[in-house]
Amino acid sequence: MELSRRKALALGAAAALLPTGTAEAAAPPAIFYSPHQDDESLAMAGSIREHKEAGRRVILVLLTRGENGGLLDIMNGASDCPLGTDCPGGGNHDFNLVQDDIVHGRTAEFIAAGRGLGVDQIVVRDRPDSAWTDYAGFVREVRDTILEFEARYPGASHKLVNGYRDVIHGSPPDEPNLTHKACREAAAGLEGRLSDFRYYWVYGYTYPQDERTADFVLPLSPRQFARKQQALAEYSRWDPRHGRYALGYHSVGKLMIDPAAADPHEYIDLPG
Ligand SMILES: [Zn+2]
Ligand SMILES: [Zn+2]
Repeated sequence: MELSRRKALALGAAAALLPTGTAEAAAPPAIFYSPHQDDESLAMAGSIREHKEAGRRVILVLLTRGENGGLLDIMNGASDCPLGTDCPGGGNHDFNLVQDDIVHGRTAEFIAAGRGLGVDQIVVRDRPDSAWTDYAGFVREVRDTILEFEARYPGASHKLVNGYRDVIHGSPPDEPNLTHKACREAAAGLEGRLSDFRYYWVYGYTYPQDERTADFVLPLSPRQFARKQQALAEYSRWDPRHGRYALGYHSVGKLMIDPAAADPHEYIDLPG
């Protein structure tokens, strides 16, 4: 629903009496799109807090189901636990899970992290991670998703992963994570129509500290950083009876979660 101009003006006068957070809540939301369950906490969590502290409404969108065959094998004991003695489950697990359990477990971690960050709304698209089998189709789906949110919230800020730079340190630079790359490509194709894009560098945390650069490096306040660490900790929670298997930590714990939890910065690139 849109307020009439006259009513909005009348409210504008009243808004001066309200706490600033309430007045600014009427601004278009900031929408953070996470390709997988963990990208938001790795690369965007401090920024999410920054927007909340400024009184912005924040919507967190999970773009894919995050199916992961490697995690299924690890949980079922078909391959060794990569965490060894650091495994919150003791390093030995042979469950009888199916891929849907992995998806639900990862999404439970995502929802817990999002709630802990105080986002206003969590949207789970429940869509296959098809960038590896149908790249162009996946780009179109992300593009349609951005346009759908822009239609619902005109003037919104759109926050995506960097994509083009999402290469594990030491890997060939022309081999970024395809799902992440597709997100960036979808947004880049819309930069002429929409202006408010920001790109967060998830894989930056695999690089040595002095190689972590961006158009804008956001320093996190101690409070923001503590909330980010709490969000990341949801990916290490072990409570199998309630569907929590520390899946994020089994997937990229040593590679990304530990370094991200030790670095109070986020790495943000601008459009163009
Ligand atoms: Zn990802
Ligand atoms: Zn384990």
